[in-house]
Amino acid sequence: MASIDGLPPLREVINTHELFAKKALGQNFLLDLNLTSKIARQAGDLANSDVLEVGPGPGGLTRALLHEGARQVVAIEQDERCLPALAEVSAYHGGKLKVLQGDALKIDPLEHLNTPIRIVSNLPYNVGTELLTRWLSPAEWPPFWQSLTLMFQKEVAQRIVARPRTKAYGRLSILAQWRCDAKIVMEIPPAAFTPPPKVTSAVVHLERLETPRYPADAKLLSQVVAKAFGQRRKMLRASLKGLAPDLEDRLLAAGIKPTQRAEEIDLEAFCKLSELIRS
Ligand code: SAM
Repeated sequence: MASIDGLPPLREVINTHELFAKKALGQNFLLDLNLTSKIARQAGDLANSDVLEVGPGPGGLTRALLHEGARQVVAIEQDERCLPALAEVSAYHGGKLKVLQGDALKIDPLEHLNTPIRIVSNLPYNVGTELLTRWLSPAEWPPFWQSLTLMFQKEVAQRIVARPRTKAYGRLSILAQWRCDAKIVMEIPPAAFTPPPKVTSAVVHLERLETPRYPADAKLLSQVVAKAFGQRRKMLRASLKGLAPDLEDRLLAAGIKPTQRAEEIDLEAFCKLSELIRS
């Protein structure tokens, strides 16, 4: 496979450092540097941004991010075996790559990053949704990051961008679309990975909005949506029971029929309802 830089091809890196994939760490590696470059280019203006990458593995996406001109890359990798390969990438790029070893769920990388910060990752599937939920639910908005360009299983990507009245529409759609523009920018077939996973993957790009699309209290909105989709087949007058006195009046005031189900309610109406419940 053609290399985009002067470093050895990824297959050689994997052999040299004996990086056979570990399933428990969600290791499905992308070895085509043209493909990882294409992903890196979806992330926006890298030359003026620091990039946070979770799970660099042997460094395919990392090398593409640096090759595409990222100002600085900070990568968190749990698997110690990858560190020597990543040290070679860092040396080649004059220290523009800093690797933090450990669990991304436990490490706070902020002291190593300068704004604007873009997060770009082929996420380990076992922690992907948890990380996304955290990045989308900071204590204050706007968050520390400018954009997220993330690879997920296609089914998760579809939930993030889903519209009302579809099977994929749910809590993740509301959480993502309330304060971001979210779109699927690429689909990647299993054969592109080593080893190939069972399902197709997709890259989602989320660009933060400076203020939420509609006013709402983050905690209350999350509570309303969790309850509504927790029993998505029930009518809202039943699934939201106990959330507020005069629930049916508040539903009507938000333009929602008490007999409707969560799947039919758009983001604006959910925000309106949570504001009416708050008051
Ligand atoms: N970025 C590489 C690529 O695209 O080929 C590897 C992606 S692979 C899907 C996921 C990577 O995340 C692996 O290198 C794995 O070791 C790492 N990883 C798994 N769990 C992690 C965690 N909790 N914190 C940090 N890295 C993790």
